[in-house]
Amino acid sequence: MKLQLLPSTFNGDGTASPGQHLTCFVVDDSVAFDAGSLAMASSPLQKKQVRDIVISHTHLDHVAGLPLFIDDLFATLTEPVRIHAAAEVIEVLERDIFNWSVYPRFSELSNQNSPVLEYYKVVTGSSFDVAHLSVLPIGVNHKVPSSGFIVADGTTTIALTGDTAATCEFWTTVNETKDMSAVLIECAFPNEMDELAVLSHHLTPAGLEKELSKLHRSDCDIYVVNVKPAYRDETIRQIAALGIQKLSILEVGRVYEW
Ligand SMILES: [Zn+2]
Repeated sequence: MKLQLLPSTFNGDGTASPGQHLTCFVVDDSVAFDAGSLAMASSPLQKKQVRDIVISHTHLDHVAGLPLFIDDLFATLTEPVRIHAAAEVIEVLERDIFNWSVYPRFSELSNQNSPVLEYYKVVTGSSFDVAHLSVLPIGVNHKVPSSGFIVADGTTTIALTGDTAATCEFWTTVNETKDMSAVLIECAFPNEMDELAVLSHHLTPAGLEKELSKLHRSDCDIYVVNVKPAYRDETIRQIAALGIQKLSILEVGRVYEW
């Protein structure tokens, strides 16, 4: 299984900036998990192949690239872009984004070939198939309804927390899963910003350490994502000071393979 965290911004020389403002993971160049930078940073191959997008929650940094992605492909789609998300997420997308005021209601539009957008409701705790993947959404603890995901391709399994504060069911499921190659966990703010982290339902390095104490397996690599760019250096320094084995910061733009 290949996974790439798409860049959010680019340097003057065209290389990806290390900071992560937006969240969009593309698996095997064909399935997107969140769509923060999907329109802006996907490769030509990904633009051609990604027709399934799994959305964890509706915060802007996770959906900003979604309307633009469909817009860019509007004339050339030969099948709809399929959005897989919980009912609450779909409701907010339709009410607050695809509402004709912020952007067109693509779910009502077709090109000469097909509708351009279709919704597929997912239910936390029930796995579903998307392209060649099996995905189990698990409710996590964020300011709005939000899911983490266990993603399996039949050979390899990985887990994504999505945006979350302290949570339980996700870790129980990760611990019970047979094989686990990698766990991606968020850590947004440095410890000094604990108050904001609590208010916004995110983790600090201290919270990250507590969460990882619930991970009772040593076979998987741990990657930290969603570090707020404004506090990136300090947050990474505090994460490094924890001295957690097999833990690293997921590099923006790099293709990981497990
Ligand atoms: Zn969020």
